[in-house]
Amino acid sequence: MYPRVILKGTLYKKSQQKRRTSPCNYKERYFVLNTQSLTYSERRPGKKPAEKGCIELSRIKCVEIVRSDVPIPCEYKYPFQVFYDNYYLYIFAPDNDCRLKWVRALKEETKNNSLILNYHPDFFGEGRWRCCHMTEKLAPGCSEYYPSECASKKPLPPTPDPQRRFSDPPERIVVALKNFTPQEDTDIPLHKDEEYIVIDCSETNWWTVRDKDGNVGTVPCIYIAEKPTNNLEKFEWYNKDITRTQAEELLKKVDKEGAFMVRNSREAGVYTVSVFTKAPGSNGEKYPRVKHYKIRETEGEVVQYYLAENYLKSTIPELIHYHQHNAAGLITRLRYCVSKGNSPKIEELEPELSEQWELNAEELSLGGELGSGQFGLVLEGTWCNSEDKVEKKVAVKTVREGAMSDEEFKDEAKVMMKLSHPKLVRLYGVCTQQSPMYLVFEFLENGCLTDYLRSKRGRVSQEALLGMCIDVSEAMAYLESSNFIHRDLAARNCLVSKDLVVKVSDFGMTRFVLDDQYTSYTTKFPVKWSSPEVIRYSRFSSKSDVWSFGVLMWEVYSEGRLPYECRTNGEVVESLNAGLRLLQPRLCPETVYQLMQWCWKEKPEDRPSFALLLHELAFLADL
Ligand code: ADP
Repeated sequence: MYPRVILKGTLYKKSQQKRRTSPCNYKERYFVLNTQSLTYSERRPGKKPAEKGCIELSRIKCVEIVRSDVPIPCEYKYPFQVFYDNYYLYIFAPDNDCRLKWVRALKEETKNNSLILNYHPDFFGEGRWRCCHMTEKLAPGCSEYYPSECASKKPLPPTPDPQRRFSDPPERIVVALKNFTPQEDTDIPLHKDEEYIVIDCSETNWWTVRDKDGNVGTVPCIYIAEKPTNNLEKFEWYNKDITRTQAEELLKKVDKEGAFMVRNSREAGVYTVSVFTKAPGSNGEKYPRVKHYKIRETEGEVVQYYLAENYLKSTIPELIHYHQHNAAGLITRLRYCVSKGNSPKIEELEPELSEQWELNAEELSLGGELGSGQFGLVLEGTWCNSEDKVEKKVAVKTVREGAMSDEEFKDEAKVMMKLSHPKLVRLYGVCTQQSPMYLVFEFLENGCLTDYLRSKRGRVSQEALLGMCIDVSEAMAYLESSNFIHRDLAARNCLVSKDLVVKVSDFGMTRFVLDDQYTSYTTKFPVKWSSPEVIRYSRFSSKSDVWSFGVLMWEVYSEGRLPYECRTNGEVVESLNAGLRLLQPRLCPETVYQLMQWCWKEKPEDRPSFALLLHELAFLADL
């Protein structure tokens, strides 16, 4: 007999990070709950749904809504959790009713399981549970878990300690998930969907709230949920009471491209983003200068926020987060957040960088030329670190004066050096105290992937070609999970080791190129590897890297040929706009070509993530 279907519908899920390389991303899935299991599948147009996961109900230990004020970067903003075995699956519903429907049904079906006593009401993030600050992912929960969601039978949590002291939290707004009838004199009623201000949340189970008429009392916190708000207070970039002139002074003092802050505008209820730039304006504006952008709201029932048209976000923190990664209409990406309290801290960063990442140039001995790069000559060398006395073969990129925005690079180098993965070319350090500046990289004996492919034409097996794509997708899945965008992924920016492992190089480096021909979408800009949204709006993302990865796979299977060999950049853009794509290379199996085409979907959200690509490629390789 088939199990009976209880509920089905489209929800989002957050990947579970079972593996180190799996990214933290959100995927639309079709969920089906039946009397035996909860399954989720991916629906692809014109194809059979592909089942992506199945959890037997007997393995589930807790199902509960998630109460959190973190901005949720997917369309569905109402999270709930399913804890099974030792994994947390986070699922996002489009509205609260839908969420409650799923939670209730799942609780009902699992109420006879051996359930946990306590659960975590908030997410795990930045290495700890946001609710109780425990750092272990499997730390026991901090809130009592109620297996039944049925309101009438639901046991209310123990009453609050009358001796408790009120804390002094910033104003938080919550929404009632359902009606609540007071049980004690100190309680106040809750009316479903109404908003309440949290006065005290120091008790785990009962919070003190104020309703819209000013009545204050306690309510069970399982009946309320945080409202996604523009609570900006906790963000470092928010300087509430700072004037335009003060903001300009502070940002100019910091003197870094993309230094920014958000402040209250003179107009009540309006916020302004102030950004510092050294770029000359097209209308002859003086520079360096500070530009001020008002955060605008859309009209209509559901308010959304934007700085430049087309990039709408549902909260201000989400909007800022987006522009921290994409200039998208602004004079520059928002790079360094500046607040009244942290400006000296930013200035202190540089000595820290030089202590940690500055290599002693005397420990380097330079040899022959390996090639010539964007910033200058690349030399072979050895580096003998005086501490461990181990000699390493290195590639040293020399940076020609005026070729790189070195101030910016020095700041970012710290981040880049922290990225560490066996399929990424390691940046060991920098020598910035001299001219030309040196960037010291791990040495890879077989040089750049394009040259390698060309030199071995007709002699690389199918297995090896697929292996190259897998190597690159591993590195990229790692970058994706680190929220790091490569921006110039191509075979020429991958290197081959002596064991024929392909590693990704030059990640993020294009941001520091000062060559106009490169940055202004003319001759040197890698149009043939760029997605439509990068060509049109400079909108870089991991999904624009995915597009480039599709082209890189094409290069691999074409044995190092130049994509769109006989066409100019302009012609390529035209044919992309007409929906045309690169043709299937002779050596490329149909299954791999389908993956390439998936990478070249017009809309970034229709493209797969690197985690999924890695999964699919590994499947093809039968790994
Ligand atoms: P850029 O990216 O700055 O334009 P490249 O990375 O293309 O410069 O370097 C130019 C050439 O130097 C490459 O084609 C490659 O042959 C060689 N090269 C660069 N980095 C390394 C490395 N880490 N190991 C070995 N050879 C390298």
